Amino acid sequence: MRKALVILSGGQDSTTCLFWAIERYGKENVSAIGFDYGQRHKKELECAKDICKDANILYEVIPTPIINELSANSLTREDIPVDEEKPDGTPPNSLVEGRNLLFISYAAIYAKTHGITDLVTGVCETDFSGYPDCRDVFIKSLNVTLNLAMDYNFVIHTPLMWLDKSQTWELADKLGVMDIVYNKTLTCYNGEMGEGCGHCPACHLRKRGYEQYMEKKQCMK
Ligand code: ZN
Repeated sequence: MRKALVILSGGQDSTTCLFWAIERYGKENVSAIGFDYGQRHKKELECAKDICKDANILYEVIPTPIINELSANSLTREDIPVDEEKPDGTPPNSLVEGRNLLFISYAAIYAKTHGITDLVTGVCETDFSGYPDCRDVFIKSLNVTLNLAMDYNFVIHTPLMWLDKSQTWELADKLGVMDIVYNKTLTCYNGEMGEGCGHCPACHLRKRGYEQYMEKKQCMK
């Protein structure tokens, strides 16, 4: 059986991916990794830690302060206020340039060291908000690059790539972890767990998706 490493931030998407991986690979073949890059909300790492502890999954946090030193954005800098949603579709100032490139590369190094071939990330093109390193073409390109860089057969899985937020809620429901995802994750850019602050872009997206899924579920009954 192949082993999988989930890149887990403690948010809705990566937490759903964790349980997707557990179902697909079996608990004993799954571990998770997170990155402490000086994000404003360290609490998300605590969320991830708690979720893994409850699920009995090994979770390792790798310090990557360099990302914070290089990048000025509202997720890592206290003095930059979080953008509300931008009508022109440009990325909000919570964009951390190259973050997924670095996270997935670091994860790959860790994975190879531990005999793990499969990497799982919650990146998603549907809701991509202009984040270029969430696109499918980037992930495919990075997969090739990592295999060449380390002469290894990595497979990067992106279970959420083509799902919208309501379908991500649906997946969590199918996996039987709706409760955990709803209550124990942190998606809010203002650092409030569960339902969040209600007015940052991440909260809007999460809430809209949840309501859409609940409506759909109601109709299916
Ligand atoms: Zn919020």
